[in-house]
Amino acid sequence: MKISSNFDAGNIEVIEAVNPGNIRLCIAKDNKSDFYQWFYFRLTGAKGQLCAMTIENAGGAAYARGWEGYQACASYDREEWVRVSTTYHDGEITIQHIPESDSVYYAYFAPYSMERHHSLVSQAAEDERVSLHVIGETLDGQDMDLLTIGDMAVGKKVIWVIARQHPGETMAEWFVEGFLERLLDEEDALSRSLLEKAVFYVVPNMNPDGSRRGHLRTNAKGANLNREWENPNVATCPEVFYVRGKMDETGIDLVLDVHGDEALPYNFIACFEGIPDPDEAKLDLAYEYQRQLMQYNPDFQMEYGYPKDTPGTANMTVGTHQLAHRFQAVAMTLEMPFKDTANCPRPETCWSPRRCRKLGHSNLDALAAIIDRL
Ligand SMILES: [Zn+2]
Repeated sequence: MKISSNFDAGNIEVIEAVNPGNIRLCIAKDNKSDFYQWFYFRLTGAKGQLCAMTIENAGGAAYARGWEGYQACASYDREEWVRVSTTYHDGEITIQHIPESDSVYYAYFAPYSMERHHSLVSQAAEDERVSLHVIGETLDGQDMDLLTIGDMAVGKKVIWVIARQHPGETMAEWFVEGFLERLLDEEDALSRSLLEKAVFYVVPNMNPDGSRRGHLRTNAKGANLNREWENPNVATCPEVFYVRGKMDETGIDLVLDVHGDEALPYNFIACFEGIPDPDEAKLDLAYEYQRQLMQYNPDFQMEYGYPKDTPGTANMTVGTHQLAHRFQAVAMTLEMPFKDTANCPRPETCWSPRRCRKLGHSNLDALAAIIDRL
């Protein structure tokens, strides 16, 4: 029996793996950071045995409330992910499972590997309406990929979608996969009409280094990208430096920053009420977008989310706040759950890659409903 994590996005440290009934593990911190919560490991050689895998440092993770009501994800082929019995007690989580194969993977959420990212970007770039720009390099030397869909023309709206500033929030890239899948479907009339009205700039993965390193929240040098938007330093945070630089060239009418929330079992959107100069008309459009999204996709709701800041109290280093202020844009942070949606639960899968993709599709409906008013 062996536990390993030395692969794309892997993260676990083995304390003891001798007796399948009492495997002791801990999650490694993000490099140069105290954040940790993302885990992803492989268990081999335990077919047919009841395995109890305890993560001893779960209680000290970034969002300990995330473990309440949480079920871990498991897969044999890394395509289909199911949920397995998980309990949280005395600061430890214990995953109990009888593997049906000698090779099984466990993860905090269905991983979105850098290999899959490369496939996503390459396939999108094959479409003649898409151009791919490598706008810079990360600290580990990976490409920062920006997809541009459609041509800029006078009168067209500028829509940005960025995802996975926090690399452990893999649901964000599953969402982008769905968003692109529908936007590039030439037989989808709504997508075709959107592309006549807007040009789309999409960064499917803001944090390739954190993704490959198996981080929860930071880049290779411990920077939390979503606290770097006010004054990004190219030496420590090239990801935001290059993306914001490109945004300065294009301007923004609407930007969606896609995330996952460890604790809240809901899909929700956070806006920019707390910036010094919130534009009421833009805020109204953001709320209308959410009402439309809720109509098109009941997995989304508006009742539960983050408390709204009062004007002038927002943290301006956060992407959505900075971009709403800098561009007078409709800026929204979309959060998805790691667990399930309490308002629309599906216990067989909990929140899943397929549901992320569907939510990506539905966001195009919501956008179409408001785009003429942007
Ligand atoms: Zn996040």
